[in-house]
Amino acid sequence: MILDKISIYLYIFLVFASVMITAYFFFKKYVKKSSLAYMNCLRINDIFKSKFIKLEYLRNIIIDYPTKYSFDRDSTYNVLYRILSESREYYKTLFSKAISNEELYNEYLSECFNNYKNLGKGCKKKNKLIRNMYFRIEENIVSNIQLKQPETQISLNLKLIYESPKGRNSYTKYQTFNNDMILFGLQRSYKSNHDSFTQEHRNRIERRKMSVKLRLEILERDGFRCKLCGRSVKDGVKLHIDHIIPISKGGETIKSNLRVLCDECNLGKSNRILENDEIVQN
Ligand SMILES: [Zn+2]
Repeated sequence: MILDKISIYLYIFLVFASVMITAYFFFKKYVKKSSLAYMNCLRINDIFKSKFIKLEYLRNIIIDYPTKYSFDRDSTYNVLYRILSESREYYKTLFSKAISNEELYNEYLSECFNNYKNLGKGCKKKNKLIRNMYFRIEENIVSNIQLKQPETQISLNLKLIYESPKGRNSYTKYQTFNNDMILFGLQRSYKSNHDSFTQEHRNRIERRKMSVKLRLEILERDGFRCKLCGRSVKDGVKLHIDHIIPISKGGETIKSNLRVLCDECNLGKSNRILENDEIVQN
């Protein structure tokens, strides 16, 4: 008797659940078909996916030493320094690829941010509850297909080995060098402190300070509006975080040097930089 009752409830529950799941499935399909934000995200993904560069380089370097003496006299730092001095151009190119990935990904993120204005636009239903559901599912779909960050860091694993003739004893030194350590080593291999690579490194550090968090803070501070014309995403413009004094002219990535600009004001900015420079000079 009791078992019968339970199985009836279970049956009703299962029918209900499968109806809900089917309804959800079809609704999701509808969202995907009609969503502007989803379409736009696919388009942006297509553009950027091919631009991200895969960093191909030797990550693990193993060096065998013929004698214990030569093994003892060498260190992982020395080896790194030798590698960087010998293949300076190679590592410079590698770094510029990593920098390009980082810049592209920042650009990609701001495209994604601007795409948020399309959320909910494709929904033709008037009902508030359905619109809310539509919005949530759409947001979920769009954030799920967002591209992962491409490689922007370089790291090397160095392993130095000496094995005694009959393999009785083996000695190893092992160290992983991260991006900053390699950059430092590369810089050290240059005589002048003021060459273009050092400048490039400084610019890179400044650009890297522009995190998603900082971006949002500036957007919030400026009320999600262009500081010059006051328009927002709702007015159909794209918003950028702008360096008032550009990085290339020595500007820093600090809140006082950042502001929100729309794409139009950003394009016409060159005159305003001059104005700003004048202010700085006074
Ligand atoms: Zn503007």
